[in-house]
Amino acid sequence: MSCETIRLVSLNPSTNHFVCHCQGTGWVVVEGKGAQECGCRIRAKIIRKLERIPPEYEHLRIESVAPDLKRHPKQAFVWQTVKRHPDRCYLLCGRSGVGKSAVMWALYAHAVEQYRPAVAMSLSELIEDFRRAEAVGYQNEYLAELYPSKLRTRSDRWFVGIDDFHLGRPTRFAGEMIYRLLDAAYSYRHQLVVTSQLDRRGLERHWAEAGDGSGKAIMRRLMEINGATYLTLPETDGRLEERRADGLYKKKAAFEDIVN
Ligand SMILES: [Zn+2]
Repeated sequence: MSCETIRLVSLNPSTNHFVCHCQGTGWVVVEGKGAQECGCRIRAKIIRKLERIPPEYEHLRIESVAPDLKRHPKQAFVWQTVKRHPDRCYLLCGRSGVGKSAVMWALYAHAVEQYRPAVAMSLSELIEDFRRAEAVGYQNEYLAELYPSKLRTRSDRWFVGIDDFHLGRPTRFAGEMIYRLLDAAYSYRHQLVVTSQLDRRGLERHWAEAGDGSGKAIMRRLMEINGATYLTLPETDGRLEERRADGLYKKKAAFEDIVN
C-alpha cells in the first residue's frame, strides 16, 4: 500500500497532514465504517474551497493576524474578538473599506481548514443563484450553491458568509429566500457571518421594502442566531489619521460592540 504524507505550506498546522492510502481512487475502506474519503481527496477539496477567496484576502488567516491594540485599538478589538471566537456568528457593519470582507474571508478560511462545509458570497450573487435555480425548475440539473434546505442538517456545522447584505433590490422573492435561509441557519445552529454598510436599523428598513414584516423577521433571525455578535468596524486607522491631519475629524469614531 502506498502511503505518503502531503504537506500544505499555506494551511494551518492542524490541517497540514493528509495521509493518502487510496492509490488514486479517492476512497479508502475503513473496517466497520465502510468507504471513507481519503486524505488526498479531503486535501484537494480544501484547496478548491480556499481558491474561492479573492486574491486580496487569500493569505489572510485569523491565526496570523496580530492586532496591535496600541496603534489601532478599534480595528484590533474586532480582530481580537474573532480570533478568540472564530466559530461565532457575526454581523459586521461599517463603511466601505474598513475591512469587513477581510474578517469574513478570514473566518471562511478558518472554517474551510477545519473541513467544515463553507460558502461565502455577496448577497447579490446569492440572490442571482436562487433566481437561476428557480428559473430552470427542479427537472434541471442546476442547483443553487446554497439554498435553505441544504442547511437543514445536523451532521455538519456550516459556515455561511454573506457579504454586502445591504446591496441589491429587496424584492419579495429576495426577502422570502433570505428569510428561509436565515431561518434554516438559525434552527440548525450554523455559523453565519454577514457584512453590511448599514447598521441593524438601516438593514431593518432596507429589508422592510421586501414586504410585510420582512425587515423585522429577517433582522430577528439574524440577531437571534447563536447570540450573534454585532460589531461595527470603525474607519481604517489610516484614513482616520488622514482626516485628523486635515482637521476634519471631529466626531469620535462610531464603535459599538453589542453582544446579543
Ligand atoms: Zn488518496
